[in-house]
Amino acid sequence: MNTNEIISAERRYLVQTYVRPDMVLSHGEGCTLWDCDGRRYLDFMAGIAVVALGHADAEWAAAVQAQAGRLAHVSNLFHTAPHVELARRLVENSFADRVFFGNSGSEANEAALKFARKAAKAAGHEGKTGIVAFTGSFHGRTMGALAVTAKEAYRAPFAPLVPGVTFAPFNDVEAARAAIGPDTCAVIVEPVQGEGGVNPATGDFLQALRAACDEHGALLIFDEVQCGLGRTGTLWAHEAYGVAPDMMTLAKPLANGLPIGVVLVTEAVAGVLQPGDHGSTFGAGPLVCAAACVVFDRVSAPAFLADVREKGAYLLERLNALDSPHITAVRGCGLLVGVELDEPVAPILAAARERGLLIINAGTHVIRLAPPLVVTKEQIDEAVELLAVSLKL
Ligand SMILES: *Cc1c(COP(=O)(O)O)cnc(C)c1O
Repeated sequence: MNTNEIISAERRYLVQTYVRPDMVLSHGEGCTLWDCDGRRYLDFMAGIAVVALGHADAEWAAAVQAQAGRLAHVSNLFHTAPHVELARRLVENSFADRVFFGNSGSEANEAALKFARKAAKAAGHEGKTGIVAFTGSFHGRTMGALAVTAKEAYRAPFAPLVPGVTFAPFNDVEAARAAIGPDTCAVIVEPVQGEGGVNPATGDFLQALRAACDEHGALLIFDEVQCGLGRTGTLWAHEAYGVAPDMMTLAKPLANGLPIGVVLVTEAVAGVLQPGDHGSTFGAGPLVCAAACVVFDRVSAPAFLADVREKGAYLLERLNALDSPHITAVRGCGLLVGVELDEPVAPILAAARERGLLIINAGTHVIRLAPPLVVTKEQIDEAVELLAVSLKL
């Protein structure tokens, strides 16, 4: 099929939940993608902050190929080596004592919310079912994850959602303290909000959440699905704050494009979970875990993280130097950067794509830059120049 045939077949056969541009991507290498008509794109969105090692990474591809040729799936009813190899890496490099594997960010958040409900019941608090989430949050599209996602347009068509959720304003210490009480079993927050506009939490805010959770016996969940695993220049985004959660969820970059989700938990949380409490058919499969081990070893290396910090600072510096009357703010951590405009960003994203730069929005007024973490300074220069032209500078 050629480009036009593929696009018309998509319109005929797919549920129309996405509006895709009129191009068909065929292959990639590092931070570069090509479409079926041979046009080249500089990828500054990495499949929504997923492809951390870049496209077609040789080591990742070799690990996937080798594992696919050996064993891809047996279900969680059996032991295999790759899932313990990955679990050991995650536990030994985080606050956590144990992990549970699923297949996506939404699923990881579902599991974390379920674990919090069970923990409260196990402690004898039947009515302790409340969950506190924040404005600007994005935790996923499944019923439970959607219930803690703030955006009304995502929620309204599917109401009623999971009950018991209260939203408090993000980064408002007093409002958070008021929202968290004896009936709260969990507080869920992104240390750096991604979809909501690239908004870093303040240190005071995360510290206040930790203190309020401790005071009321609630579990603090950090959703690092987007900001975790090196994206912000530290292995975990929360490292920069010196605040540890009771649970943390990961997904997007962990297997460099294969589906995976994880909940990392303390022993206290793990201790309330028994065989049969939760499960997943596909989770923790040897294929995806072998791929994830490659990603983890690469992104957790101190030199790799230092490089992300340096390139992130360079990207911020270059963006801050753009002289546009429409740019109202430039913010970010590491290689998760937002450029806020005083106008909707959709036409700018389309203009950038026409010039060969792939970027995404985070809300209506923020351009999000989240390139593969292996991006080079030369590619950052090229992206900033293409963005400048797209902004008509
Ligand atoms: C993308 C995202 C999710 C949802 O992940 P899916 O894999 O799409 O289910 C959850 N939380 C955050 C912070 C995300 O960015």
